[in-house]
Amino acid sequence: MNPTNLPMPDIDDPLTAEFWAAARDRRLVLPRCANCGYLEWPPEKVCPECQHTERTWQEHPAEGTLWSYAVYHRALDPAFADLIPYVVGLVELDAGPKFYGLMQDGEDTVRIGQRVVGVFEQASELVTFLRWKVVDDIADHPLSV
Ligand SMILES: [Zn+2]
Repeated sequence: MNPTNLPMPDIDDPLTAEFWAAARDRRLVLPRCANCGYLEWPPEKVCPECQHTERTWQEHPAEGTLWSYAVYHRALDPAFADLIPYVVGLVELDAGPKFYGLMQDGEDTVRIGQRVVGVFEQASELVTFLRWKVVDDIADHPLSV
């Protein structure tokens, strides 16, 4: 995969700029409502629970469970044509929210309920994507205790 050919996100969007800045440092941060504490992803302009607009960003482990996935056999964007077939996972983070992302594993490997870890993939000087990878054995995970 050549990630530099893929569409680039707007890393200056105030809703997600903190996320992209942390991803460059290979860290996952999520916004938490400064009023009610709701942890959300993706970020919205107002908290879906209390409509408050202020949030704090907190680091969380890029770890979770594969909640669902889809195997793409057609590229909805021509930039993804070389990746076909590719798997997009919906990961339920251990922190709570669900997070979409490209899986580094093929369709023969992924199964709902598997443990996954985030893999930060640098696409350019400014953009680092968060991808997901199945962890075959929880003991193999570097952050497991
Ligand atoms: Zn709130």
